[in-house]
Amino acid sequence: MVMAPSATTTAIEEYAFLSLKTSTPYTEGATIGKENHDGVEVAKKMIHEALKNRIHNIDQDTCEAGDEDAFFVADMGDVYRQHLRWKKNLRRVKPHYAVKCNPDPQVLRLLAALGTGFDCASKAEIEQVLRMGVDPSRIIYAQPCKTKSYVRYAAKEGVKQMTFDNSDELYKIKELFPDAELFLRILTDDSASLCRLSLKFGASLDTTGELLRLSKELGLNVVGVAFHVGSGASDPAAFLRAVQDARFVFDQAAELGYTLKTLDVGGGFVGETFEDMAAVLSSALDEYFPPSVRIIGEPGRYYVASAFTIACNVIARRTVEDPESRAKKSYMLYLNDGVYGNFSSIMFDHQHPFPQALKVGPRFLPSASPRCEDEDENGERAIEYSVWGPTCDGIDCIAESWRCEETLDVGDWLYFEDMGAYTKCSATRFNGFTNAHDTVYVSSEAGASSLLGY
Ligand SMILES: *Cc1c(COP(=O)(O)O)cnc(C)c1O
Repeated sequence: MVMAPSATTTAIEEYAFLSLKTSTPYTEGATIGKENHDGVEVAKKMIHEALKNRIHNIDQDTCEAGDEDAFFVADMGDVYRQHLRWKKNLRRVKPHYAVKCNPDPQVLRLLAALGTGFDCASKAEIEQVLRMGVDPSRIIYAQPCKTKSYVRYAAKEGVKQMTFDNSDELYKIKELFPDAELFLRILTDDSASLCRLSLKFGASLDTTGELLRLSKELGLNVVGVAFHVGSGASDPAAFLRAVQDARFVFDQAAELGYTLKTLDVGGGFVGETFEDMAAVLSSALDEYFPPSVRIIGEPGRYYVASAFTIACNVIARRTVEDPESRAKKSYMLYLNDGVYGNFSSIMFDHQHPFPQALKVGPRFLPSASPRCEDEDENGERAIEYSVWGPTCDGIDCIAESWRCEETLDVGDWLYFEDMGAYTKCSATRFNGFTNAHDTVYVSSEAGASSLLGY
C-alpha cells in the first residue's frame, strides 16, 4: 500500500487540482451567505473528498508513528463567502480580522488579498501580518494593556492605531509612542456572549471624560472609540447600546476639542445570527453616526469558524457492559486529538463539537449521511459512545454521550465540522501529543482560488 503523504508535504500542492476542477462555476455575485445552498453543497462534497483522499492510503497497521495524526481540511471558499456576506450586510464597516482567532497563514493571505485590515494583539501577530506585505495602516493593535517592548516595536514599524482604556496606559504611550492614533475602548454589556471580554477590558462611561482630559493634557492623538460586545454575542441589542455609548463618548471628546474620526465596532459576530446582528448594527450606525465617520470592525470567529473541518482517528476503544442487559453494550472511544489539542475550544470557548462518522472499517460513509444524534429517531439501533482525547487526564472528554448506528472500532475515523475558531491557536503540547497538525486546503469558490493561486 502507498504511504500517506507525510506531515511535511504541502497540502496546497497536493490538492490544488481538486479546487481547480470543481470550483469554477461559482462567481462573485452568486455566492452570498445562506442564500447560496448550491455553493454550500459543493463545498461539503469537496471537503469530504479531501478528507477521503488524505485518509485513503493510511494503514494504521503499518504506518509510521504519527501518519494517522488528526488533520484539518480548510475551505478557503468558505472564508471568501463570509467576506461577501459581510460586504453585503455591513457595507459601512471595514473588517479588520482578529488574528488571534485563527492565525492560519492561508486565511491571512486570502484576507490580505481581499483587502481587509487586521486586529493584532502582540508583536508576533503584527509581525506575521507585516511579513505578508500588508501596509501598517491596515493594522490595529487592539490590546488595551500592551507590553512596553511591543509598543516600541509598533512605533518602529509604523503601526499607529491602538486601543487604550486606562490612564496608566496613556502614560506608557506618551513615553513610547506619542504619535500613536488612539482608540478609547469602552465597556459593554456582554452578559449575553459566550466569552465575556468586558470583565477584563473597557473604560466605563463615568471614566471616559477623565481619560479624554488626560489625553488632551498629555497632547495625545485620540482618533476614535472602540468596543467589543463579547465573543459569540447573541443579543443584537448589545450592539445598539454600545453604538449609543460610543456616540456619547464622541460628543464628550468634541467638547474637549477632539474631532474623532473612526468608530471600531469590534467582533462578536457568529455565522448563525449574522444577518440579524448586522441589521441592528447597521441601522444604529446610520442613526448615530454620519457618513463622515469611518467605521471598522474586528470580526474573528465569523470569518473562520465554519471553514475548518477536523478528522480524527480512533486510537483505542473500551467496551462498557450494561449490567442490566448483556446485549446492550456502549463504548468509550479514544481519539488522537482532544481538549488539550485542537478541541481546546471546549474549555476556552464553551463549544460542543459534534462527532460524525467518516470511515468505518474499509467503508467511507457518504457525506450526506444523517447526523445520528436523535435517540428517538434512531431508536434501539443506535449505539451509545463517549468520545475522549488521547491524554491521561479525565478532563480530556470531547463528547460525554453520542449516538451512532455504526459500530466504530480502532482505526476508524470521525470528523467534526465548524472547527476553525479558537481551536488550533489555543492547543497545547500536553503529554507529547503533537499540535503541529497538518491542514489540507481546498477552495469551493473560484474567486478564492484565483486570489490564492490554487
Ligand atoms: C477576540 C477579539 C476579537 C474577535 O472576536 P470574535 O468574537 O472572534 O469576533 C476582536 N477584537 C478584540 C479586541 C478581541 O479581543
